[in-house]
Amino acid sequence: MKYEELCKIYERLEATSSRLDKTEILANFLHKLKKEKNKEIIYLLRGSVFPDYSQKEVGISAQLAIKAISKATGIPAEDVVEEWKKSGDLGKTAEKLVKKKKQITLFQKELTTEKVLENLRKAAELEGPGTIEKKISLLAELLSAAKPIEARYLIRTVLGELRVGTGEGIMRDAITWACFGREKAKEYVASVEAAYDKANDFAAVFEAACHGVKKLEEIMLVPGKPVKVMLALKAKNIADAFEQVGKPAAFEFKYDGFRMMLNKSEDGKITIFTRRLEDVTKQFPEVVEYVKKYIKAKSFIIDSEAVGYSPRTKKYRPFQEISQRIKRKYDIEKLSKELPVEVNVFDIIYYNGKSLLNEPFRKRSELLRKIVKGKKLELKPAEQLITDSESKAESFFRKALKAGHEGLMAKNLDAPYKPGARVGYMLKIKPEEKEFDLVIVGAEYGTGKRGGWLSSFVIACRDEKTGNFLEVGKVGTGIKEKQEVGLSFDELTKMLKPLIVEEHGRDVRIKPKIVVTVVYQNIQKSPKYASGFALRFPRITRLRPDRSPSDIATLSEIREEWEKETGRKKS
Ligand code: ATP
Repeated sequence: MKYEELCKIYERLEATSSRLDKTEILANFLHKLKKEKNKEIIYLLRGSVFPDYSQKEVGISAQLAIKAISKATGIPAEDVVEEWKKSGDLGKTAEKLVKKKKQITLFQKELTTEKVLENLRKAAELEGPGTIEKKISLLAELLSAAKPIEARYLIRTVLGELRVGTGEGIMRDAITWACFGREKAKEYVASVEAAYDKANDFAAVFEAACHGVKKLEEIMLVPGKPVKVMLALKAKNIADAFEQVGKPAAFEFKYDGFRMMLNKSEDGKITIFTRRLEDVTKQFPEVVEYVKKYIKAKSFIIDSEAVGYSPRTKKYRPFQEISQRIKRKYDIEKLSKELPVEVNVFDIIYYNGKSLLNEPFRKRSELLRKIVKGKKLELKPAEQLITDSESKAESFFRKALKAGHEGLMAKNLDAPYKPGARVGYMLKIKPEEKEFDLVIVGAEYGTGKRGGWLSSFVIACRDEKTGNFLEVGKVGTGIKEKQEVGLSFDELTKMLKPLIVEEHGRDVRIKPKIVVTVVYQNIQKSPKYASGFALRFPRITRLRPDRSPSDIATLSEIREEWEKETGRKKS
């Protein structure tokens, strides 16, 4: 296919913000694409040259792109940069410069989508000496053949800045409209979505959909290829959980860590994916060893939660403290000793060559417990209780909290596993939240994208005897909090920066002025904080400009709450 044809589609998609219009433009285009042998053009629609499950990257930065533009147009790199500064958009810059050059070029070869895929994929595979030069040449070759509009979108594609609004939902709808007709979309959209949640590959889904719904349903799980995880809904309490998932139900400890999909493919290779489909196998060498040691099967996909613990006290630690392991690329062995994880396996969706997605949870869980022989602090099945008794479930809930976990998950014993879906087959139950007004006395600068912004905040109560402010915990940031507070953490940073009184590396001390409402789940004794207590799972929910630091919760109020919770005092 001519690349220009695709670029015209990008242009039309960019020109409308209406979801329906975008779906229609895409569906019409896909209708044409049905006849093409190479369905992988669909990746380009999404601004990539690989399926969504792939971790591969073209790896061309703006600096390299500038050199390629210069090479293709004969315009010095400094002039390209000058031009870029004016528009702020390197795609537009490439378009303008290619246009300039084209006035003197007579002959030109048509650029095809196949050639774009080929060159950009080659660029992604390059390694070793000379890589940079070769990448520049591959892109320059495309740019030399490109029409101005093609240059614009080529550059945006390699920089990951296509942004034409071809998100997952729109792609799913467009494939449905193109293959089954717009009128029948309602009937078929769920099959397209289910296939995508298994494959994470729109070319494969589109190819199957072209051949009908049966082929879509045949899309299989493949161990070693990431699949979306099933998501949870909430239950208010144990009674509500039984109401939603039926009796008896399986209750499991809810570990406060992060999701890990453990895969073993038929050739024995082990891979670990996060719920965002990132391959983190290299980051968790000890988990690979546990999987080999404790799970006996030829092939599988097993769902689990990895939770961090302190190597010294063996106590579980909150997710934030181990989250750095997910992205870490160096000192991996060292970090695995400092921030070890325990893997709690709780579901199996593929076993020895067969998908178990449609088997009931009862069966999947039984099989899992048969093939996993685990060890505490390494890898083991999640703590589980199958019961129809509310009082037994309640005491299991208390046991989970006492052991330092977030609460329970309640699971429907007859339910299948639906990748990517939030269908209420598993529910989370957390203790009722309580709140205190507290003051911010410290913070920490974020790293990476959040560099320059304060990203976690130390909160304190007031010692009514001395008037001092004593720390009771640290609150991290996150999207959820942002929505609740109605104020972004960036805005909070702006308010706090003028109040900084001391800096030690990334840590800062802040003059106690800003009062916030903090909700939490429970209180623990903690030598880490000056108050001697730590709020567990704290979240800032509101700013309290109407309150002064003298109005905040006192140390004795916190102690009293802790006594109530731990049964030292009757409420
Ligand atoms: P969400 O999944 O709703 O986007 P979240 O990441 O905050 O939000 P929760 O909804 O609070 O997670 O709880 C569900 C998560 O709990 C699961 O995604 C999983 O990572 C984790 N989890 C811990 N223990 C278990 C368990 N035994 N079974 C299933 N999930 C568990």
